[in-house]
Amino acid sequence: MTEKLYLQNSYIKETRSTLISNEDNLLEFNRTIFYPTGGGQPCDTGIIRISGKSYNVIDVIKKGDTVLHMIGSQLDASKGEVIQEIDWNRRYSHMRYHTAIHIIDAVVHHSAGKYGLITGSQIYQDRARVDFDFPEFSRELADRIIEDSNLVIAQKHPILIKEMTSEEALAIPDLARTEPGRELIRKLNIVRVIEIVGVDAQADGGTHVNNTAEVGKIQLSGIESKGRRNKRMNILLDTQ
Ligand SMILES: [Zn+2]
Repeated sequence: MTEKLYLQNSYIKETRSTLISNEDNLLEFNRTIFYPTGGGQPCDTGIIRISGKSYNVIDVIKKGDTVLHMIGSQLDASKGEVIQEIDWNRRYSHMRYHTAIHIIDAVVHHSAGKYGLITGSQIYQDRARVDFDFPEFSRELADRIIEDSNLVIAQKHPILIKEMTSEEALAIPDLARTEPGRELIRKLNIVRVIEIVGVDAQADGGTHVNNTAEVGKIQLSGIESKGRRNKRMNILLDTQ
């Protein structure tokens, strides 16, 4: 099992770690700050330094409880002390987009049931998309959701990472919004919950910013209809 430092603190840009195995340049460390692809969030990239040499981390994948790091050139060592360094601009952009999606989700969900349900999302470094099941959808509604989301951002809500038992997590109203989500939580001993204080709480394994203000302003770059009720919003954040 890999100790996942990115779950404890998303702001660690560099750390020491120990290489414990190397199979065809797929590296396992005792702990890592590299986020593996998952939950609609792309993996981190960056470098590891070992014995005075640098290697590019080009892909990060999760296999069970283990995080594996693919490097772009041959490393002969399979043990040793390393320094890990993530591409911070890329990660921080993912953190801002990921948090923006939580805020949009909360706005949609808490608006007295007059909107719809989020069914999926995908984050990129410079944009994101959010998919909804909306009985009725229009550009005006999408604009209103983004406007309300920007109001939440401007209120500067702190964002906390909490750990709790599955019973405690399931007792929070709206924490898991779908039955498959609740089923997943029931199977966990410890549930990681991301709380946007005063706004929303969700079980989640991604990386987020510490305050909604860091998201900046959300722009709606377009809407798409993918079916009768299946609608998509494309968003952009201001560069910072
Ligand atoms: Zn999240």
